[in-house]
Order: sequence, then structure tokens, then C-alpha cells
Amino acid sequence: MAFREADETEFALATEAPTLNQRRLALLVVAVLFAVFAVTVAVGLTSSFALVQVRNDAFVLVLAALLFVNDLITAALLFGQFSVVRSRALLISANAYLFTGFMAVLFALTFPGQFSLGDFLGAGLQTSAWIYNFWHYGFPIAMIFYAILLGPLPKPPHGSTAIAIAASVMILILLVAALTWLATGGVELLPPLFIDQTHPTPFARVITSTNTLVCLIALVLLYIRRRSVLDLWLTVVLCAWVSELAMLDVLFYSRFTFGFYVGRGFSLVTSVVVLVVLLQEMTQLYARLAHSNSALQRERNNKLMNLEAMAAAIAHEVNQPLSALVTNGAIGLRLLAMPDADRNELRDAFTRIIDDGHRAGDLIASTRAMFRQDRREKSPVNIRDLVVDALAHVRRELESQRVSLQVELPPELPRVVADRLQVQQVFVNLIMNAVEAMAATENRERSLLVSSEVHGARDIVIIVKDSGPGIDPKHIDRIFDAFFTTKARGMGLGLAICRSIIESHGGRLWTAARNPHGSAFYVQLPIGASIGE
Ligand code: ADP
Repeated sequence: MAFREADETEFALATEAPTLNQRRLALLVVAVLFAVFAVTVAVGLTSSFALVQVRNDAFVLVLAALLFVNDLITAALLFGQFSVVRSRALLISANAYLFTGFMAVLFALTFPGQFSLGDFLGAGLQTSAWIYNFWHYGFPIAMIFYAILLGPLPKPPHGSTAIAIAASVMILILLVAALTWLATGGVELLPPLFIDQTHPTPFARVITSTNTLVCLIALVLLYIRRRSVLDLWLTVVLCAWVSELAMLDVLFYSRFTFGFYVGRGFSLVTSVVVLVVLLQEMTQLYARLAHSNSALQRERNNKLMNLEAMAAAIAHEVNQPLSALVTNGAIGLRLLAMPDADRNELRDAFTRIIDDGHRAGDLIASTRAMFRQDRREKSPVNIRDLVVDALAHVRRELESQRVSLQVELPPELPRVVADRLQVQQVFVNLIMNAVEAMAATENRERSLLVSSEVHGARDIVIIVKDSGPGIDPKHIDRIFDAFFTTKARGMGLGLAICRSIIESHGGRLWTAARNPHGSAFYVQLPIGASIGE
């Protein structure tokens, strides 16, 4: 599996397109917001209950604290998104949240009755009302810029995001300071919005209606230009803002009435929605990242494992011809040292050395091909000749271990279509295993029997039986696993390679215990004619 190098912006909320479910959820939230709006307006217009004022100063403070913390976290997350995506729109949205956070606190601190009126920052009667308006104009105006700046902006090639963030926050703080001064020390320059602590002036109505309009413009603009998950949820947030302002527009409620409390509820929604979505989306993105990271890791391990297994398999397969080569070399040297050495024997020894060298080379190629899953050339082979050849390769091992050999393969055995070298290697491995198993057998004859069975017209089964100790029943399920071995110097690859070769020929390889001792390995191969010889 090839992994495309992922652009880091692919994992940012600001670039992720919303899914159908996300769009549905957003729609549901908007529907609930509008339903609450409609109910509040209906109650406000019809019921005298809407005029009842229940003063609760703590509420304003607690709400401000909540808004401040939420907005601060949201801003921090959005700044984080900005440092990945580097879009100016994101920088604006992060600052917009920081602005609402500051303004919410200032609103609470200057709210009449919270801190003895006029004390805090020299706040007067109009201060908190103006702060409220700056706050509620500020966010939608920022969103208008956000929507305008959305789009395929090229990444700024240079410049540190940290500097951009620091500069923007500095500007924002200056703006907040200027607005705070305007609402406190400079409040005389602005028209009054409240007659007394609870009753607004008619001019306040104009300000609120314009505010609703600005908010609607931001909403429509963002709705048209939205693309990402973040855009979608900012649209929802603007719906809450529009609801809050429109409610104030229609009902023009006084402080601490029903409409006032619902309005603050909308404020809370505006600050919570994006935060919750950001956190939830980030958790999901994190899970996806973690998942793809572990997939990459697995892929890497697999490759390493394959390489390691291939190196081990080649070492395993080449081992036998190499030791034959060394043995034949030694025989050659011994013959050379004899003054009356038979030249024919000498020639035989050298011929065998050359054969072993070729075989080692061929085995490396065939093992590599096995790992690359290459289709090697297969041809009809006489299985009897093939087994006899395999036995010839291990003749010296059989002799040195005094193993008596019995071959019961009728000459008229049907042919199989096979990669001759690979299948021959299967028998070399099975016979070598048998010889090694019988090496521990002292008190009875070491015998190796190679026989065959023909199963109908389809399959031929070659059976390699030995009189060794047999396979421990608790290992029987694992002996074909790669790297499983009970030998001190074993590699545990022989049987795994054998099975893989036989299965790639459409056959099966299995084992069974022999009675009273020893083991039997069964190599089943499809008969050539049945696969189109
Ligand atoms: P290795 O020979 O390196 O151990 P193999 O995959 O060829 O790896 O064999 C795995 C294990 O199967 C051996 O360690 C041994 O325990 C068992 N085994 C294989 N052939 C025989 C056999 N003829 N008799 C008894 N045990 C065998």
C-alpha cells in the first residue's frame, strides 16, 4: 500500500469539508435556536410574565466568566488552526473570539450594580450598554471580514505565524482599550442608550436594529461562502447572534426580564458551539491521525518483517548447498593430496562443487521470487525424478547419519506442473528435517521412507516418513509457522517455506504422527493434466 504524503492542512478543521451528518446536526441546532426564539417572542408579545424583572447580579458575573473562559479557549484553538492553515480568515475568527471574551468580561464589570456604579473604570450609566453594542457589532463585523477573506488564498510563503498572532492580539488589545475608554471616559461623546438602570432610550432601538442587520449580512455572506466544518458552525453561531439581536429588536425587553435571560442563553450558545465542535472534531482528527500513524507503522513493520524473513529464508535455503559445497571441496582436496587419485573421482567432486554453487545461486533467485510473489516458470515434471534428485543432494547427510533409505515411487507416476527447483527444495527440507530429527535416535534403526499415493485423477501425494522422535503434540499446530523451531540452532523457516511453495502450486502440505514413533509429512500436488498440461 502506498501512502500519499499528507499535507498538514488536510487535518485542519478550517479546511475539512463538513460531512452530511455534521450538516444535519448543524441544521438541527439552528432549528432549536429558531424554535426558542419563536417561543420567547410569542411569550414576550403576549404574556405579562415577560415584563416581570427578576434581578440576579450573580448571573451576569457567572455568565461573563463562562463566556470569557470559553471564548479564550476557542480563540486559542483557532490560533492553533491558523498556525497550520495560515489563512487570514482564521486569524480574524480567533481574534473575534478573543474580542467577545474581553467584551463579555467588560460588560459584566461595568454592568450597573455589579461594582458600585461609576467606580469601575469610571463606568457610568451608559457604559455597559455601549460595551454590549461594541461586543455585538464587533463579532458580526469580524465575521463579514472572515467570510470575505475565505477562499483559496495562497499560503504566505514567509513570515512566522507566532509574530502574526502576537501582532493581531496587540492590535485587538489596543482596540478593546480604545472602546473601553470610549464607553467610560469618552461616553459623553456617544448618545445615551439608557434612561435609568433598566430602561433603554429610543435611540437604543436604532442601534439594535442596525446591529441585527449587520449580523444578518454576516450570516448570509458566510452561508454563501462557507466550505469547511468551521464555516458551517460559525454560520450556526451567527444564527444564534441574529436570534439574540432580533429578539431584542422585537421585544425590546428590559434588563432582568424573561427576554434578557433568554438573550444571555443565546450568548452562551454562541460561545459554546464552536468550542464544542472544535474539541469534538479535534478528538476525531486525532483518532484518525493516530489510526493512520499506526497503519503507517504496521506497513513499515511489514516491510521490515518481509525483508527480515526473506534474508532468513535465503540463509536457510542456501545453507544446505553451501555445506554440500564445503564437503565436496574437502573431498576434492583429499583426492588431490593422494598420489594415485582417480581423476574421474576428482572430476566428479569438482562437478558437484560447481553444481552446488549453481544451486545456491538458483535458490537465492527462487526465494526472492517467492517473496516478490513472482510467477516463475512452471513446467510438467516427473515427480519421481525430482524426489530422486532431492535425495542425491542430501546423500552425504543420509550416509553420515546412517539413515536407511527406502524409495517407493513407481516410475509411471503422473507428472505435476511445477517450479522444479522450488518443489525439489521442499523435499530437501523435509528430508533434512527427518535426518536431523533422527540424529537423536540411538536405540532403533534410522529409516527414511519416501512413498506416493495417487488420489483419483486429481492429486498426487508424496509422503516422507521417518523413524525419529515424532512431533511433540503441543507443537503440532505451530511447526508450519515462520520462525517456530525447537532446535537450538534452528531458524524455524523450513516448513513455512515448504508450505508456501506447495500452496503456490495449488497443493497442500501437512503432517501426522506415525505409530509407534516417527513422523510423516504429506505433500499433495495437483496432477499436471488437471491443470492443463
Ligand atoms: P527448523 O528446522 O529450523 O527448526 P522447520 O520449520 O523446518 O524449522 O521445523 C520446525 C520444527 O518442526 C522443528 O524445530 C521441529 O521441532 C519440528 N519438525 C520438523 N520436522 C520434523 C520431523 N521430521 N520430526 C520431528 N520434528 C520435526
